[in-house]
Amino acid sequence: MTKHIFVTGGVASSLGKGLTAASLGRLLKQRGLRILIQKLDPYINVDPGTMNPFEHGEVFVTDDGGETDLDLGHYERFIDENLTRDSNATTGSIYSHVLAAERHGDYLGKTVQVIPHITDEIKRRIHLLAGDDVDVLITEVGGTVGDIEILPFLEAIRQFRLDVGPDNVCYIHVTLVPYIAPSGEHKTKPTQHSVIELRGRGIQPDAIVCRSDQPVGEALCRKISNLSSVPLAAVVSAPDADSLYEIPLILHDEGLDDVVCDLLRIDAGEPDLEEWKALNRRVEAATIPVRVGLIGKYVSLVDAYLSVVESLNHAGIHHGVGVQIEWIQAEDVEGLLVADRLRDLDGIVIPGGFGSRGIDGKIAAAGYAREQEIPCLGLCLGLQCMVVDFGRNVLGLERAHSSEFDPTSPHPVIDLMESQRDVDDKGGTMRLGAYVAQLRSDSRVREIYGEDVVSERHRHRYEFNPRYRQRFEAAGLHCSGESPDGRLVEFIELEDHPFWIATQAHPEFKSRPDRPAPLFRAFVEAALRRAEGRNPQLLQVDVGAEG
Ligand code: GLN
Repeated sequence: MTKHIFVTGGVASSLGKGLTAASLGRLLKQRGLRILIQKLDPYINVDPGTMNPFEHGEVFVTDDGGETDLDLGHYERFIDENLTRDSNATTGSIYSHVLAAERHGDYLGKTVQVIPHITDEIKRRIHLLAGDDVDVLITEVGGTVGDIEILPFLEAIRQFRLDVGPDNVCYIHVTLVPYIAPSGEHKTKPTQHSVIELRGRGIQPDAIVCRSDQPVGEALCRKISNLSSVPLAAVVSAPDADSLYEIPLILHDEGLDDVVCDLLRIDAGEPDLEEWKALNRRVEAATIPVRVGLIGKYVSLVDAYLSVVESLNHAGIHHGVGVQIEWIQAEDVEGLLVADRLRDLDGIVIPGGFGSRGIDGKIAAAGYAREQEIPCLGLCLGLQCMVVDFGRNVLGLERAHSSEFDPTSPHPVIDLMESQRDVDDKGGTMRLGAYVAQLRSDSRVREIYGEDVVSERHRHRYEFNPRYRQRFEAAGLHCSGESPDGRLVEFIELEDHPFWIATQAHPEFKSRPDRPAPLFRAFVEAALRRAEGRNPQLLQVDVGAEG
C-alpha cells in the first residue's frame, strides 16, 4: 500500500517547499523506494498554461502534454522520473470536474458542497497517483497555511490520515525561521503561529523543516519542538544552500528521511548517496567562467526560465563550467548591438515565449550571433526568430516573419499548419507534450544526440513553413530533424558556424543534473570553446568531466 507524505508551507511562500519535497523524494528513492510526487495548487486557473510567467514562473510541460507548475520540474530533476499531468491539480481543475459532474446529474439531487464534494475530489486526485507500483507518494500543497483558498486542501489531507490509517500518512510543515541581523538571533514566533494555524485545521505536523538563511541551532530547534509538540529529531534545520543539489544531502544530515521512514514504518535501510555526492563534487568543481546571454521577455523573474537555467547549469556541471547568465531584456538588444555590448558573450540562448514584445530584439540577437560566429541556441520561439533572421537577411525575403506577429507578411516563414488555421479554440491547436523527431544522418544534431530518433516536449502553435524549406536548405540552413511524416521541421542547424542550432521543442524539460539535455551540453561546449579563444588562460584548467 502506498504511504503518503504531505508537505505544507507556513509563514511565507517561495520557501522551497517544492525543493524540500523533491529532495526528500530523492532520499527515499535512494533507499530503493518507488516514489511519485504531486502538487496541489489552490489557485482557480484550471492549469498554469494561461498564467503569465512574470507572475507564476515557467509553465513546465510533461511528456503527456500537461501544462503544469514549475515545481514539477524540480520533482523530475530530483527524483529522475517522468511525471504526468496527474501530478498537478489546481482548485480550478477540481471545481471543473465537480461542476461537470453536477451538470451531468451525478449527485442525484444532493446539495453540492465544498465538504464533501470538493474535498472528495481532492482525495480522488491523490488516490489516482497511488497504487501498487508506488511505495511513497509525496503531495505538496501549494500556497501557505492561513490562505483562504488552501482550506479545502487542508481538510482533504486531514481526512486522508483517517481514511488510510495513521501509519500511512505523515505531515511535514516547511516554515520560515527568520534571522534578525541587528539582534543576531533567529525568531520562532512566525513558526509557532503557523503551526497553531495548521492545528486549528486539525493537522498536527509530524516534522518541521526550518528554512532560514543561517543554520537554526539546537536550542532553537528544541524551543520549536516544545512549542509545537514535534519531537526534537523531527525539527530540521534547512539553511540556504549554495546549490539546489546540496539540499538532499543537508536534509539527510539532519535526519529527515530517517524520521519519515520511522513515522511511516518503512524499513528500507540507508540511502545510497554516492552518486548524488559525486554530482555535488562536480557542481563545486564547475568553475570555468562562461558567459551566456539569455535574451528574454520575462528576465525580471528568473523563475520564468527555470528549466532553461537548470539545463545550462547541468551542461556546465558536465563540462566543469560555471555558466554565468547575463539576463538581457529582448527590447534592449538593438541598443546593446549599436553599443557593441554583446561581443563579450560566449553564447546566446533565445528561449521560448509568446506575444510580440521583444521579438525584434530576439531576431537581431539571432542575426548577430550568426554573423559574429557566436554559439546560439534557439528554443521554440528561438528557432522561429532564427528562421526569420535567416529569411530576411540571408535569403533577402522582404518582411519575412512569423504570421503570429505579422499576419500580412508576404513571406510567412513561420506559420500555422493548414489544419490549424480555422480552429477557434487556441488551446486546441497547441502542439503539447512529447513528439518524436527523425534526425538526418549527416547532421550535427544527430551527432549531438547520438540517436536517429529523439523525443522532446513541445508547447507551441506555429511551425517552420515547409514552402520555404528548399530555399533555406540551399543557402546552408539545414532542417536536421523532422516529424516522422516529414511535414514538420523539428531542428535546424547552420553549416559553417560554431553552433547556430535550434529546435521547435523544449529540450530543457528533459534535462537532468547528471544527464544534461544533449543540445545544451553541446551548446555549452561550443560556448566554452569561444571563451577559451577569447581568454587562453582558461585552457590551463582541466576541463574533463567526471563520469
Ligand atoms: N509563440 C510561438 C508559438 O506558439 C512559440 C511558443 C514557444 O516558444 N513556446 O508557436
